[in-house]
Amino acid sequence: NKPFSFDNPLDFISTETRSFLGQRHKLFIGGESVESVEGGRRDVVDPATGKVISNVADATANDVDLAVASARKAFDGGVWRTTKPLERVKLLWRIAELIDKHAVQLAELDTLDEGSPYGVVKNGYIAGAAEHFRYFSGWANKINGDTLPVSLPGDWHTYTTREPVGVVAQILPWNVPFLMMAWKLAPALAAGCTVVVKPAEDTPLSAMLFAEICREAGVPEGVVNIVTGDGKIGAALVDHADVDKVGFTGSTATGQAIVRGASGNLKRVSLELGGKSPVFVFPDADIDAAIPQVAEAVYLNSGQACSAGTRLYIHEDVYDRVIEGVAAYSETLKLGHGLDPATNMGPIISAKQFERVNRLLDTGLKEGAQLVTGGNAGMDGFFVKPTLLRDVTPDMCVYREEIFGPVISAMKIDSRNIEALALEANNTEYGLAASIWTNDLKLAHGLAGRIRAGTVWVNAHNMIDPSMGWGGFKQSGWGREMGRSAMDIYTEQKTVAMKIG
Ligand code: NAD
Repeated sequence: NKPFSFDNPLDFISTETRSFLGQRHKLFIGGESVESVEGGRRDVVDPATGKVISNVADATANDVDLAVASARKAFDGGVWRTTKPLERVKLLWRIAELIDKHAVQLAELDTLDEGSPYGVVKNGYIAGAAEHFRYFSGWANKINGDTLPVSLPGDWHTYTTREPVGVVAQILPWNVPFLMMAWKLAPALAAGCTVVVKPAEDTPLSAMLFAEICREAGVPEGVVNIVTGDGKIGAALVDHADVDKVGFTGSTATGQAIVRGASGNLKRVSLELGGKSPVFVFPDADIDAAIPQVAEAVYLNSGQACSAGTRLYIHEDVYDRVIEGVAAYSETLKLGHGLDPATNMGPIISAKQFERVNRLLDTGLKEGAQLVTGGNAGMDGFFVKPTLLRDVTPDMCVYREEIFGPVISAMKIDSRNIEALALEANNTEYGLAASIWTNDLKLAHGLAGRIRAGTVWVNAHNMIDPSMGWGGFKQSGWGREMGRSAMDIYTEQKTVAMKIG
């Protein structure tokens, strides 16, 4: 009940998590915890304080070889592929139940590691990860092919099957760490793939607890392997001849490097990359309801979400009202440690990202964007205030670049012309998401149909469900995770054509 103190954040977590932080975290290979071959260690830092809270193994290419060999053996040996579909259903469901059972600890770890407020992490991200496993448990026994009415000479029995793509390397970002892992793991396991997971170097802790969950759930040895390390370990996985597919979430630049690296054995690649998503607010929307939601479209996770609605287009009839409303809302948000119940917004993940956000913000201001509210919070730790810029123009860096911080770039529009608005929306190399705030059906559907983005919300933003395919047009990615489409990226189609007569 004592008030939160930045001096001792670890006083505000469970004894289980405190003891977990003190453990010697190793790699998870072949169902065992193992030291990295070269014995390296890597510190884990709390971004709200900048202090070291734990450490994990620092893998090298030798460890990658062992992890891939373990996944290969589990795949080729058929231990997972030949598990009856209903058994896979039950195992994924069991993982979901164990995520619920360990939700407090998982949420404390992600809060400490990544910085988001504990309530959002536990009730949104960790609960969402469990739902993800439940949803994909349902797919494990519904992966089926077709029979084909061929016109070849003679009689034929021709059909397709969908088979697991094989050994999958899953390379994860630091934002929303546990949920991002669930997005990738659940469909891959449902499909019958075996995996090597590489968490981001800044946020490995919840993946370490997931290794224990795998053991508790009875995941067969070698089906899930986890290696911790930096981008070099990601690159070693991408390069590895025994990996059949890479599933990646992260920056577009790394995505491009992965495409080049994967070309050696023509691995399958799916990519979930960056975004610069447009948000349109029209006067006929429920403006009072829209204001906090368009603000949160960026402020969620301190702006560190690929789907952040960072280009805010406001119709001139409500421009001042929305700007004032978003500014007033921004000023109500309390920055702080994610473990403090009073916190609405946490820090930026690392010193490096913090500097990047501040640099882009400064450049935007020099280029003529007007600061309505926000900026560097001047606190210890890596904090940026919820920031609203107005009168942004397409030539400014804050319009073009993914800032990955809590920065909204607002612009006035004077049109309801769907073609003109679509041109504005599509004036970006990205195409991940968009939202349209209006009750005009023609405008909503007309614009939704013309925006080149993987997801378009109407009167909502950042509302994500496991059944909704997720991914980007253009440089926002390749393939779709979640929903039915995720089963496609983790399976290969086979055609069997049998001549009967
Ligand atoms: P990043 O690209 O720096 O790193 C992502 C992961 O790739 C890390 O695990 C890193 O170790 C690894 N990596 C780095 N270099 C590599 C290489 N050469 N080969 C293989 N792996 C390598 O990205 P980040 O800074 O951790 O994440 C932020 C970015 O991710 C943002 O741009 C954001 O938009 C994007 N993102 C996209 C989605 C989505 O669903 N589309 C979700 C979350 C984040």
